[in-house]
Amino acid sequence: MYKVVSYLSARCALLTGQYSSSPSWASFHLGSGAVCQKSAFKYHPQDLPEMPSCRVKPEEYKGMSKEGMMKIRKEKCNPMTMKITYYKRPVFLHQGYMQWLWDVDGKRYLDLFAGVATVAVGHCHPNVRAAAERQMNTLWHTTNIYVHPSLHEYCEKLASCLPDPLKVIYLTNSGSEANDLAILMARLHTGNFDMITFGGSYHGGTQQTMGLTANSSYRYPIATSSGCTNAMCPDVFRGPWGGSHCRDSPVQTIRECSCAQGHCMANEQYIGQLKETFATSVPSRIAGFFAEPIQGMGGAVQYPKTYLREAYKLVRERGGICVSDEVQTGFGRTGSHFWGFQGHDVTPDMVTMAKGIGNGFPIGAVVTTPEIAASFAKAYHFNTFGGSPLACAVASSVLDTIREDGLQQNSLNVGTYLLTELSKLRNKYEIIGDVRGKGLQIGVEMVKDKASREPLSADAMGEIFENIKDMGVLIGKGGVYGQTFRIQPPLCITKEDADFFVAVFNKAVHGYMDRK
Ligand code: PMP
Repeated sequence: MYKVVSYLSARCALLTGQYSSSPSWASFHLGSGAVCQKSAFKYHPQDLPEMPSCRVKPEEYKGMSKEGMMKIRKEKCNPMTMKITYYKRPVFLHQGYMQWLWDVDGKRYLDLFAGVATVAVGHCHPNVRAAAERQMNTLWHTTNIYVHPSLHEYCEKLASCLPDPLKVIYLTNSGSEANDLAILMARLHTGNFDMITFGGSYHGGTQQTMGLTANSSYRYPIATSSGCTNAMCPDVFRGPWGGSHCRDSPVQTIRECSCAQGHCMANEQYIGQLKETFATSVPSRIAGFFAEPIQGMGGAVQYPKTYLREAYKLVRERGGICVSDEVQTGFGRTGSHFWGFQGHDVTPDMVTMAKGIGNGFPIGAVVTTPEIAASFAKAYHFNTFGGSPLACAVASSVLDTIREDGLQQNSLNVGTYLLTELSKLRNKYEIIGDVRGKGLQIGVEMVKDKASREPLSADAMGEIFENIKDMGVLIGKGGVYGQTFRIQPPLCITKEDADFFVAVFNKAVHGYMDRK
């Protein structure tokens, strides 16, 4: 990769008669109308560095043909899966190792989406695999009607990662199931019914959690939302209010404001909207409030820094409990803290988790206080697979691996670096409206232009997205209008990987602008 940097520097120097060994550009022309910007970009958009190396070689794929898989997908699978192959030319994956994936033809991809923010420590991480193998040789399954060590070892370990009084753990199989359970517990504990979530949120796909999910693409035309109300999402980029130091991120929005240090007018306005929701849309006593610390499917949407602190107070005054959905933000992803809520300086009454908890193994959890757990003990809550020996052994190894591999710190370091590099592209291209997030929970919101902040069209998003994939990087998409690229990789990616992605993204956006 560094060879490419010096090659490009030399190329610029040759064209201008100057020579600089520095990889930063000094406004040189490279023919074809493209400009070598005066900036800290390491690569010209027309050149691409080599993909960072990987010592693992994939096995030769000898399985079913691509055509065979597509035929079965079309005829025998949920028809919606035909709509969400994600790419015009789908990716047929075969093997993975850490931040790398290989398709059935042996092409390697840098995975910056981690199976939707799930593979926290890396694909097939050797330590997690070894823990799973050990448990598989001992006992795969029994339920929690018996006492088995892996459940208890894991509950002790997970509880030690959470502050008091969040110490009672319920293990489930998925995030939807965890949130479903959290709704039930909140209603039973408070004796109230109404739940509040943000517009644009995603909290699950079961009939009950669909009510919390405030994105029409995931809603069916049946009565799922009984007792669920959406408050305005305090989105400081797309929402009606936002400024230049509202959020907890190395990168602020392009919006200007005249707020004094420590005072955020956008926050006041959004809290005003929440009060309006309390006054108009729910009874005076509510069951609870669900929020992610950074809205994941919404496209890494961040709120004003003190919003959640004030919102929690208002919810508790109305008898409600506060639930932090850490399905995407937990397990060190935000870098500064192990849990996203810690970045908002709040302690929830309940935390729900899934995805990264098992690095891809199906497990989820609700963690709550002894008091709320006591209210839930009125009937027997049984879950066949929740807390199975295998799930607990895997999840336990994931916690050890996050610590041993220093992944929270890596998320902070690489994430801050990547956010900073991406913000340079935002300053360069009119269609990159916002770069935001913390650690490795990153959103890049695309717009028609910065003045209108209108979402970039689905066709344009698709074209850029497909090109990024063709250049060997997998990222995600989100946002209510599908306008935001999501970068939520395994937490083990390196700065070299980040550099490679920035070069790919630069080339994809530059190419789109050129063709436009
Ligand atoms: N909460 C959040 C924040 C999520 O992103 C998701 C899944 N995308 C869920 C809950 C539901 O998790 P699952 O798909 O495991 O049911």
